Amino acid sequence: EVVYLNGKIIKSHEAKISVFDRGFIFGDGVYEVMVRIDQRFFYKKAHMERLQASLNKIGIAYDVDALEREIPELLASSNLSHDDCLLYIQITRGVAPRKHAYPEGIEPTVLMYALSKKLPDINAVHAKVVTTDDLRWLRCDIKMTSLLGNVMANEYAMANNCYETLLVRDGQITEGSHSNVFFVKDSRVYTHPANTLILNGITRQIVLELCGQLNIEVREEAISLKDIATMDEAFLTGTATQIASIQQINNHYFYKNEAIGTLTQKLQTAFLALKKQKELN
Ligand code: PMP
Repeated sequence: EVVYLNGKIIKSHEAKISVFDRGFIFGDGVYEVMVRIDQRFFYKKAHMERLQASLNKIGIAYDVDALEREIPELLASSNLSHDDCLLYIQITRGVAPRKHAYPEGIEPTVLMYALSKKLPDINAVHAKVVTTDDLRWLRCDIKMTSLLGNVMANEYAMANNCYETLLVRDGQITEGSHSNVFFVKDSRVYTHPANTLILNGITRQIVLELCGQLNIEVREEAISLKDIATMDEAFLTGTATQIASIQQINNHYFYKNEAIGTLTQKLQTAFLALKKQKELN
């Protein structure tokens, strides 16, 4: 197994990062995850642009264009040029004596690796999800490596034998611990607006685009926790999650059996067609 670290492709067990790396000390870094399907990355441009935006938001001066050019060699060295895979990219502010102030004149630490990963055509899960308080900070739009709030929220799902935890801030559902969430009510699709309280998922953006193409009415409005039981359908979106039907939230069942909502299914089908398209991004 190999990784790309600071300009070199090396064996993962030989890769070394300083204990004074600010990613390790402060969680001072950002990341991105994308998938490769049928020998092309799915929405690579959008992912690279979001990575650049995250870097810009936290003041790390680094241009992701050069990094993008290293991807083919990483895939070749990983023997993944022909396989479906997942690409992880992480950039931290770099190595410096521990001080909060942004250090001057240091190079960011850049890590990238690919893993073999074959996503199902359609996510067949009938997700059970729970809700908990959104304890995260107020810049959830930055895709940062400091994921403790997300990790703890996800652990709450694991402890409850659930697939995901939905986060609640001021009585409203924001997103999942590692996914965005959508609701359907009276043939309208609802999702939290893309402000600083959520990560604007690439899959979320794709689903909104598909709704436009399918003439499905969309409202980028948050849904209240207390209104969940009045919703017709709910689903999760994410790069690896794709579009996952929600069967149950807390004690509310959307379906007692393995049914999937009409619009959820329609969007899953349209999403699959998008993945099979040859000429894309
Ligand atoms: N929200 C959070 C908190 C996430 O970590 C993710 C990524 N797994 C998403 C939403 C979905 O984003 P994307 O569709 O770009 O994977």
